[in-house]
Amino acid sequence: MDVPNKEMTLINRTKISISGRVQGIGCRPFIYRLATDLGLSGSVCNDSVGVTIEVQGEQSDIDKFIELLTDGTNSPALMEIVSCTVGEMEPLDNEEEFHIAPSEEAGTPLSQVSPDIATCKQCLDELNDPTDFRYRYPFINCTNCGPRYSIVKTIPYDRCSTTMDQFEMCQLCRKQYVEVSDRRFHAQPVACGACGPGVWLTDSKGETIKQGNDDTVAEAGRLLAEGRILAIKGIGGFHLTADATNEEAVKLLRKRKHRDHKPFAMMAGSIEKISEFAEVTGVAKRLLESPQAPVVLLDRKDGTAIAPSVAEGTWALGFMLAYAPLHHLLFKEDGVDVLVMTSANISDEPLICDNEKAIEKLSGIADAFVMGNRDIYRQVDDSVVQVIDGKQAFLRRARGFIPAPVIRKTDSKKHIFAAGADLKNTFCFVKNNQYILSEHIGDLENGDVYRHYTKSVKHLKGLFEIEPEVVACDLHPGYLSTQFAKSLKAEKIIEVQHHWAHIASVLAEFDVRDPVIGLAVDGTGLGTDGAIWGCECLIASLKKFKRVGHLQYYPLPGGDAASKEPIRIILGLLYGMFGKEGIEENRALLEKIEPQAEKINLIVQQLEKGLNVINSSSAGRLFDAVSALAGLGTCNHFEAQLPMALEAITRKDIKDAYKIEIKQDPNGTSLLDIRNMVVEIIDDVRNGIESAMISTKFHNGLGNGLADLAEKARKASGISVVALSGGVFCNRYLSEYLKETLKERDFKVLFKTKIPANDGGISLGQAAIAAEIFGTI
Ligand SMILES: [Zn+2]
Ligand SMILES: [Zn+2]
Ligand SMILES: [Zn+2]
Repeated sequence: MDVPNKEMTLINRTKISISGRVQGIGCRPFIYRLATDLGLSGSVCNDSVGVTIEVQGEQSDIDKFIELLTDGTNSPALMEIVSCTVGEMEPLDNEEEFHIAPSEEAGTPLSQVSPDIATCKQCLDELNDPTDFRYRYPFINCTNCGPRYSIVKTIPYDRCSTTMDQFEMCQLCRKQYVEVSDRRFHAQPVACGACGPGVWLTDSKGETIKQGNDDTVAEAGRLLAEGRILAIKGIGGFHLTADATNEEAVKLLRKRKHRDHKPFAMMAGSIEKISEFAEVTGVAKRLLESPQAPVVLLDRKDGTAIAPSVAEGTWALGFMLAYAPLHHLLFKEDGVDVLVMTSANISDEPLICDNEKAIEKLSGIADAFVMGNRDIYRQVDDSVVQVIDGKQAFLRRARGFIPAPVIRKTDSKKHIFAAGADLKNTFCFVKNNQYILSEHIGDLENGDVYRHYTKSVKHLKGLFEIEPEVVACDLHPGYLSTQFAKSLKAEKIIEVQHHWAHIASVLAEFDVRDPVIGLAVDGTGLGTDGAIWGCECLIASLKKFKRVGHLQYYPLPGGDAASKEPIRIILGLLYGMFGKEGIEENRALLEKIEPQAEKINLIVQQLEKGLNVINSSSAGRLFDAVSALAGLGTCNHFEAQLPMALEAITRKDIKDAYKIEIKQDPNGTSLLDIRNMVVEIIDDVRNGIESAMISTKFHNGLGNGLADLAEKARKASGISVVALSGGVFCNRYLSEYLKETLKERDFKVLFKTKIPANDGGISLGQAAIAAEIFGTI
């Protein structure tokens, strides 16, 4: 057997370039440790594309290095390699060590700023270790975890550009900060009890009642266990919090916050604790424990100790795990088990993140405040996800995910700004092949939210060094986002039809350039014919779209009021299909939903005269109408309250479906004809059929009708890829039913996992269309 002696061993040198999310997240120290453990020499540095590594040693060790680098097992939590190229080099003489080369060019502005990340396992161990100098320190962090996006003011991303600039590192912290092999090498927010920020407790007027980290946490825990309401400063802003098992406390929080109905999110300290109240399946568990630590909607268990007022009329409980060190400390206190953790804001205003503002705005709500002096520069809400068909599906994309971009294969030659929609607004910048979405901004019709929007656009434009040459916005001239986009006076502006943007967001996420069948099932958006669209079948690419089918139009009286008062929609449906007679026949039933006969008469007159009545194909409004008919309520107190209640009572064992037929209009457009369905629903209501049956038959019927629409589109186009998007796909039951039905009929289904299906995804679609049309020239 040939055993090569040392002189005969072949030494090779390999250059490895990786791109993706590889900067500012502890990548270089990780690579340094990997290389030195394997006895390889060479170097690593950041460059404008990502990270370049040169390693020298025996080929088997180099192979092992590449394997460990790319398999992700031990890599930093946030590291995501999108591409990896490997090339041979001439070995260097006399190179003995591996070193981190200074990278003068710190990379693209984008790659420097990463999202805020939940406390990592190693930091948690230190937090609980009495011998560690950061034992019980509420701001412990390292390169693998801690705040980033929420504290950065400007680039380059150094400590002096963050809100940590006011704290000077002590010797112990600095030693770790400058040591390349340390987990805290260049961790900008690094701090300890001796040198960093701290927490203190104030009463509702802002008078300090406890000082010192430990005393503050102990007193906050005691107050929470006692049933008090606290405002706690976290990573992206303040939370209002109360014991989630204390009905009185939760009710009081609702009363003081003037939030009567909308479900509250909760937080617990462990998966085991959450499992007491809700089903935690494999995927949901992975999402809860992920570094992004979003709120995850989980199937609730019956008969648990969760206070009824936390979330009524939904199938889900929204839970997240403790994600900041302060949270972990709180859950160690006696009597602190599971907490309501809701964004601290007044009605729909932006999240509060500043100490003084918190006292000013929340003193009537919170009994005490846990304050901290690490300032939050950008407020970021908690992200909210659910599991649809075994995969993550976003309801709100914010903390933990922003500003990680959606990366596409092709570069845009132009910088692009996409303004988004007015509800659930996000905006999006395009630079090269990176699509950077803002966090959830909110509903722009609120003046404070709109100001926050314009300020955020300006801040992120600077942060990512983007000068938009092309601007995209919604077709609706009344949207504030549209008006803002037009005021920017860019070289080019493109107005994108709302539902085309919904489908385009799917094409962008999956990086598809060929045309697909798009089913946009949604609330409302302005159509190219002036009607209010909302249940559309399109043949769409990023270049163009054609509307090939839709829900048949019905008259919608009262515009925006209809989204709150389903009686208007029901009257519109009946009047549109059967005229005034249809309304008179069902008087008794209608007066159960709207007891004031006079109000019904007024709406009917409005329909007859066509005053403030607009044609609509909205599916969202249809859900409102069916919910009210099924007896689930007469008013949406918050968006989609009734549709959520309707979904909550669906039953998987019911296979029956209302029949929806497809008609062709004279232009060959397919129309979903719901006349039969409406008649059947009214019959079932009259016959006292249980609402679970009505709800499930409605969901199944709509699912079948949508699949039939796709079928028609496939016949005409030969395309068998279907993209699903629009707010109605936040409905898990319908999404899973339709996906399954389409797959049974041999369609390939594209369903987003990275970006919300609702209007939070619109800006990505607008941006991708603008890039396709203007970004290639
Ligand atoms: Zn850490
Ligand atoms: Zn220190
Ligand atoms: Zn929409």
